[in-house]
Amino acid sequence: MPSQRQSPPQRGARVACAIAFAAFVFAAGARPVAAAGETGRHPRHRLVEPAPPPKPIDYDQLTREAATLLQNYIRIDTTNPPGDELAAARMLKEKLLADGVPANVWEPAPGRGVVAARLHGIGRHTRSVVLLSHMDVVPANAKEWQFPPFAAQIKNGEIQGRGAIDDKGPGVIELMAMLAIKRAGILLDRDVVFIATGDEENGGRMGAGWMVDHEADVFADAGYLLNEGGGIMRRPNGKRYFAVSIAEKTPLWLRVTATGPAGHAAVPPDETAVTRLVRALDRLDGWRAQIRLIDPVRDYFRALAELDGGPPQYRNLARALRDPDFTRNFTAVARHNALVRDTFTATVLHASDKTNEIAPVATAEIDGRLLPGENPVAAAADVRKAMGDPNLKLDVMLNFPAASSPRKSRMMTAIGELAAREDAGVVPTMIAGFTDSHYFRQKGIDCYGFIPIEITPAEMRGVHGVNERIPVKELGAGIRRMVALLELVGGRAGPAEGRRP
Ligand SMILES: [Zn+2]
Repeated sequence: MPSQRQSPPQRGARVACAIAFAAFVFAAGARPVAAAGETGRHPRHRLVEPAPPPKPIDYDQLTREAATLLQNYIRIDTTNPPGDELAAARMLKEKLLADGVPANVWEPAPGRGVVAARLHGIGRHTRSVVLLSHMDVVPANAKEWQFPPFAAQIKNGEIQGRGAIDDKGPGVIELMAMLAIKRAGILLDRDVVFIATGDEENGGRMGAGWMVDHEADVFADAGYLLNEGGGIMRRPNGKRYFAVSIAEKTPLWLRVTATGPAGHAAVPPDETAVTRLVRALDRLDGWRAQIRLIDPVRDYFRALAELDGGPPQYRNLARALRDPDFTRNFTAVARHNALVRDTFTATVLHASDKTNEIAPVATAEIDGRLLPGENPVAAAADVRKAMGDPNLKLDVMLNFPAASSPRKSRMMTAIGELAAREDAGVVPTMIAGFTDSHYFRQKGIDCYGFIPIEITPAEMRGVHGVNERIPVKELGAGIRRMVALLELVGGRAGPAEGRRP
């Protein structure tokens, strides 16, 4: 529950808007105006003074500023658990306020934080664009790293530290792109809403989940949302593509409980809670869910084949997967396997904490991941059947409905135009994990996993791994592309869209 509730950013924004409107009326009133009937044209053509052309953006300066902001951001340790994102949220808020962008911080639980800000456009399109990121990071064991994970040193042109890519760097790109637009006086036809959440790495209930439940007004007008989950990729032949995640697998986390007689391990009975659990998990390990090819995955592999010229089977994966030899080789790659079927992996085990004591209860937690469209009840029944022991108890720990976003939309077209400027194509993808996007997809917002930076496979290994870092140059390129993308999707060309019911 919030210990500190503040007014949503629109409230301040509305004041700013009212002032802008008053200025407009004043300027209009100062000039003599012909009535609409005299010219037959709409009087607004005479009333409105054209806005000054946007000022050029100094991207070198912006990149230096972004690097400093990211350094300070990484130095605020937001390792989750416990998260403690409040200080980071306040820092981002101050950065936005310093440029006159109304921003607010909420504290969903003591020490936790969410920050949101709104940059107003001229508003002919009513559906705003949300730029989403998360402030919390996964733990970093300094002993395993080549550099201190929270010092945010810049070496070899890279900013080093936990969160550089996941997800503080992208958050800085989103924030600085908004400031660049504001400073340059670029008039977008949509509002842009910045939201940085906490608790993403632990399911998001104290972050995006809280925001959706308690402060949904902040993004009530949102049509599109950009979030982590995709970026600019390079194939071995050098061709690049813009990977946009339009779908995510959904978690079905299960707890399996086995029971049996308690006792001393010196005189063990035939069967204990532990032996029953182990046998059940072994049977589950030998079982595979059926293969199912969903459209974004089919399209993803076809696009890869077109970029590389091979392997030819990727052009028609549905047909290829009917061949058992191909399927065996294909699913031997863990990532491929995860894209074409539900997976279930035991991760947490609990029984006795004493070597000589037989515990009456043994539990396992299973991280299940379902393809979009899968029925969780049926999937849990399959798991139970695979474990082959009717006396085991099965509880659902976490599940939510999977939703995907359309592969054709104004946002996808804009990303396509951005990619075309760099001679690249767009490839819609599904990610095997899940992000905060699902909270917003459930609210009917078209969410796209796309951060406009090129991350090498080596840099990618830093995400949830060791030695996470981002090149300063890429940070700058990301801001430049994000500004261009917002201009494309929020530009004044094109028909106005109505507010969605
Ligand atoms: Zn992340």
